Amino acid sequence: MARYTDASCRLCRREGQKLFLKGERCYSTKCALEKRNFPPGQHGQGRRSKTSDYGLQLREKQKAKRFYGLQETQFRNTFDKAAQKKGKTGENLLILLETRLDNVVFRLGFASSRKEARQLVTHGHFTVNDQKVDIPSYVVKAGDVIKVKKSSTDSPKFKEIKDMTITVPNWISVDVQNLEGKVVTMPTRDEIDTPIAEHLIVELYSK
Ligand code: SF4
Repeated sequence: MARYTDASCRLCRREGQKLFLKGERCYSTKCALEKRNFPPGQHGQGRRSKTSDYGLQLREKQKAKRFYGLQETQFRNTFDKAAQKKGKTGENLLILLETRLDNVVFRLGFASSRKEARQLVTHGHFTVNDQKVDIPSYVVKAGDVIKVKKSSTDSPKFKEIKDMTITVPNWISVDVQNLEGKVVTMPTRDEIDTPIAEHLIVELYSK
């Protein structure tokens, strides 16, 4: 049988954790981690050896970056913004990542992965408070209403969502019939289920 070398799945295998980069496949038995939970590459099998503190911090940063689909510079800029805010930098970082428009579109169930959400946002399918927003990094705030743009609601992609039952985190609400969602309140750390130890990222960038 051919080796499964999908680039996204290799990232999960590198981190040893599901990063949910491939939509529905991630929730099925086809997930590469189900059968190949070891790092990719010729020497991957059995190679999860002891890692230094720096190595752990670096991996955690890479994991967070890949989970939310950011490039290095974008991630660093987000961290710097988090550091300028009051409160704990690590928590601020996760809240900033979680409230990006592309992530919220994914959380609302309007896209099967963050990657797809980013594409849909970039292609101008969404409004925030009735204004078109096509910037995936746009940060939403409490009270914001995110809607599928009227001219997009009849597309097959969004039509099928209307029949779905979607479970969303407590800090957002969704009305699938009307293809809209609302940021009820800003998320707290407890409400963000991202498997990231953010203190390791803070330690990494504090060196
Ligand atoms: Fe691939 Fe998704 Fe499984 Fe990651 S979680 S290995 S992206 S199928």
